[in-house]
Amino acid sequence: MAQDPSLPDPALVVLVGASGAGKSTWAQARFRSAEIVSSDDLRGVVGSGRHDLDASGDAFALLDLIVAGRVRRGLTTVVDTLGLDVVRRREWLDLARAHGLPAVAVGFETPPALCRSRNAARDRPVPARVLTEQLRAFRGLALDAEGWDRVATVTTDEPAAAPVPQGPQTRSPRPRSGLDVVLQVSRFPWGEDPAAWLTGVARAADEAGFAGLALMDHLIQVPQVGTAWEPIPEPWVTLGLLAGLDTGLRLGTLVSPVTFRPPGITAKTVATLDVISGGRAFCGVGAGWWEREHLAFGLPFPPPAERLDLLETAIETMRALWATGTRPYDGQRVVLPETTCYPRPVHDVPVLVGGAGERRTLRIAARLADGCNVPVDVVEEKAAVLRRHCEEAGRDPAEVAVTVLDLPVVGRDRDDVWERVERLRGRTAAATYARRHHAGTPPQHRDRYRVLEERGVHTVFAALPDLGRPEDLLDVAAMLP
Ligand code: GDP
Ligand code: MG
Repeated sequence: MAQDPSLPDPALVVLVGASGAGKSTWAQARFRSAEIVSSDDLRGVVGSGRHDLDASGDAFALLDLIVAGRVRRGLTTVVDTLGLDVVRRREWLDLARAHGLPAVAVGFETPPALCRSRNAARDRPVPARVLTEQLRAFRGLALDAEGWDRVATVTTDEPAAAPVPQGPQTRSPRPRSGLDVVLQVSRFPWGEDPAAWLTGVARAADEAGFAGLALMDHLIQVPQVGTAWEPIPEPWVTLGLLAGLDTGLRLGTLVSPVTFRPPGITAKTVATLDVISGGRAFCGVGAGWWEREHLAFGLPFPPPAERLDLLETAIETMRALWATGTRPYDGQRVVLPETTCYPRPVHDVPVLVGGAGERRTLRIAARLADGCNVPVDVVEEKAAVLRRHCEEAGRDPAEVAVTVLDLPVVGRDRDDVWERVERLRGRTAAATYARRHHAGTPPQHRDRYRVLEERGVHTVFAALPDLGRPEDLLDVAAMLP
């Protein structure tokens, strides 16, 4: 078959892409078999078969010899390997340069789900973890900046319909649509059967159309929400239970005080949640504020400046441990002799910073986080400050999502709304309580959320103050935009 007319010929053509991206198929459709030098084929020549990884050293030595021989003779040569090793790519590029042959890199931007399903269908699939690493490595490449004479991109139009191989019961995260509304659960009136209540809430939230479920992370129920003797479960254990359900909910905390757990342990916990949920985890972190729960649980509660230092340390540690490879890490506040943390998360876990302190918290979010959560009623001021910090830090403000915590009272109709306000308001005046909680019907909340969306809010964490039975969530579905 003809060579691709848009590519120079002769040329050295280096394929770059994950397993199952379609590299070999693409090459075989365009080049003579003698022009293609494949590391898999050469493993089969010097080893026991195409997948004999023990033969890789010999296969690559042979590959280098063949490529060098052909390039020296000015013959078109297609290097069919993963192509993800920057040092090898550099060597092939230098070789082509030395012999005056145009050097072409071909990147295969095949959707990850398609790579995974093709890989799973193979006799000898690459382990899922390895494939994830390859996809991640590919995403991190900037072939355009490497000096190739030509960088071509192969895309696949095929729908990534094939399911991501995941646990038997778990779904992909629900795709984002404009504004996400995540159910924030902060009270646990679970009666006699805690697991049934929790799973019921998650299933109903999914059915109602919430994008995710977030749990408050406190050791004692906070006075703003309830009494100290109400149950408040450990959130990551609880999310582990919910990860096993057949929902598309994103799962995480809003927010975990970094004073509770050493950050490396949180990195491990969240990576595990991400893996067992098929890439649905997120991680909210904050500096912690409630002294009582720290004292009661024997935890240090350092002054605010130190807690904010801990927040920076925590984000840096988690990101270092979640990154590819096991290299030593030497960063701003954190030094680690190695970063061996398996399983790796299967997607880029978003880190949200909770808190609205303008001097440091928002600055930390601007420098280090994927999102920043602020109270809904001050979102505009806080978003403006966040943007300024992003600009000062040289970061595109679009990279730091603005999210809000909202505590809506939702009633079926006007009567139901005001009955709820009366039930919930405690000693606060009804009108004040209603205003603070934007008390209204589902359509009224939906309109309010649309306005937030127009103002650039990415996610609303909605904590329903009177969430009781899981079924109640179906009544509020109409508030979701
Ligand atoms: P490589 O690991 O990147 O070399 O991927 P392969 O070229 O071996 O392709 C992996 C699998 O995907 C094989 O079963 C191919 O038959 C299939 N495949 C590759 N490209 C295409 C394509 O364009 N369309 C379809 N339908 N299947 C393809
Ligand atoms: Mg191949």
